[in-house]
Amino acid sequence: MIEIDQIHTIPNKLGWIFFHAIEDVIGHNGVNAVLHEAQINNLLNLFPSDPIDLLFKYDQLGKIMVAIENIYGPRSGRGLALRTGRACFKYIFQEYRPMLGFTDKTFKLLPWNERINQVVCFLAQVFNTTNQQNVIVNVESTQLTWNIEHCAVCWERRTDEPVCYLFVGLIHEALYWMSSGKHFAIEETECHAKGNASCKIVIIRHPLE
Ligand SMILES: [Zn+2]
Repeated sequence: MIEIDQIHTIPNKLGWIFFHAIEDVIGHNGVNAVLHEAQINNLLNLFPSDPIDLLFKYDQLGKIMVAIENIYGPRSGRGLALRTGRACFKYIFQEYRPMLGFTDKTFKLLPWNERINQVVCFLAQVFNTTNQQNVIVNVESTQLTWNIEHCAVCWERRTDEPVCYLFVGLIHEALYWMSSGKHFAIEETECHAKGNASCKIVIIRHPLE
């Protein structure tokens, strides 16, 4: 049973994955500057090998996303959030693949369309089995939609446009890996931060030319 104060806390392993990934993108000093800007002083000077329990809350992730945009500017900040999402994939895949029984051998034998379904559903399962973010993937013939009910990325944010670039980047990298280097059109069409009921990311199955 999950206690109330754990509901909006990011599981420790996922929290560390996020900090590994953001450090890969903006460096250790960059992470400290972002934490300082977000006024999350208890996580300053983190090192990836620290065995501490992060107690990393959804609203802190939302504040970090805002801080990145404040420091680097909206446009570059979004680019960095996308790259951080992309950098998360290898760590997530490495950590959760054994737990969720995702095996490369059988995966590689599957047809293309089925591989897309499986890799996107694998990511959804990571968030649904470790967390209360509630991701529902709708599989259709030309596209998949990723609906996330309690999205931590835009938690407590209010914006005019979708801002969950971290998830867009994560899905982008998963499909890039799955297709051995192809790019796909992946767009967040609805976002809780701009007043929609949930965050919705549309993934077009056919790769871009
Ligand atoms: Zn969101």
